[in-house]
Amino acid sequence: MPELPEVEALAGDLRGRLDGRAFARLMPLAISALKTYDPPVDALAGTLVDGVGRHGKFLDIEAGGLHLVIHLARGGWLRWHEAVPSKPPRPGGKSGLAMRVWLDDDSGFDLTEGGTQKRLAVYVVRRPAEVPGIARLGPDPLADAFTPDVLADILASAGRSQIKGVLRNQSVIAGIGNAYSDEILHVAKMSPYKPAASFGDADRATLYDAIGSTLRDAVGRSEGMAAADLKKEKKSGLRVHGRAGQDCPVCGDTIREVSFADSSLQYCPTCQTGGKPLADRRMSRLLK
Ligand SMILES: [Zn+2]
Repeated sequence: MPELPEVEALAGDLRGRLDGRAFARLMPLAISALKTYDPPVDALAGTLVDGVGRHGKFLDIEAGGLHLVIHLARGGWLRWHEAVPSKPPRPGGKSGLAMRVWLDDDSGFDLTEGGTQKRLAVYVVRRPAEVPGIARLGPDPLADAFTPDVLADILASAGRSQIKGVLRNQSVIAGIGNAYSDEILHVAKMSPYKPAASFGDADRATLYDAIGSTLRDAVGRSEGMAAADLKKEKKSGLRVHGRAGQDCPVCGDTIREVSFADSSLQYCPTCQTGGKPLADRRMSRLLK
C-alpha cells in the first residue's frame, strides 16, 4: 500500500507531468471506485490542472476550482501513459483498470487495483475536506506544525493504546501505514505493543526523531522517481517490514512476524523487544 512517502513522490512526479495540461476526458471503469456524483466527473473535462498535492495518503489534483482526490488504498496504483492506448479500455481485467484519464496532449494515466478487495476510491469535490477521510485526518508528520509537543499530546490522549496502532491511525497522525510504522518502531528500537501512556521524555524524543528521519529518508529516496519505479523502491528501502526470516540490518538477529486477520507486522527482537519474541496471538489461538 502506498503510504506518505510514495504518495508524496507520486504527487511530485505528477506535478511535473500535469503542469500546463488540461483534463480531456475521465472514464470511471469500476463503479465502486467513484465515491461522489456531484459535481459529476465530467465537470473536470476541459479544466486546466492548477496543482497536485497530498493529504495523508490521499492524492489531490486541483483543476478548474475542483479537486480530483484519489485514495489508492491497499492494492491501487497509478500507471502513466505518454500516449494513452487507442484501444477502448476494458474494465477490470488482469490489471484491474478502475479509471482512465486522458489529458489534452494524448498523455494520461490509469488507476488500477489488483486483488479482490476493491478499496481504491476516487472523489470529485469542490474542497478536499468534503472527502470524509481527509476531514478526519490528524496532523501531517512532515508539516512544520508537527512539533514534539504535538506528539506528546497525541501519546497522552492515546492512553493504553499500543504505539503501532497509534502511529497507523489516520485520524491521529496522517499518512503512516503498516509498513512505515514497522520501520519507525525499528529505528526507535521500540516494541510495537508499547503502550502510548508508558512513554517518558526520552522515549518521546526518540520516537519523534524516528518518525521524522524514517519518513524524510523514504521521501528522499523516492523523490524524482516515476510512478512505475516507486513500488520497487519502497520495498527495497524497508529494513524490517515484509522481511520476516531475513537478518536485521542493524544487529543481524532474525526478523520476526506477528500475524493478524488481514495484516502482519515485522520487528527485530534484539533491537525492539529485549530479545523476546512477541506472542503471535493468531498462532496461540490456533494452538489452544
Ligand atoms: Zn536488530
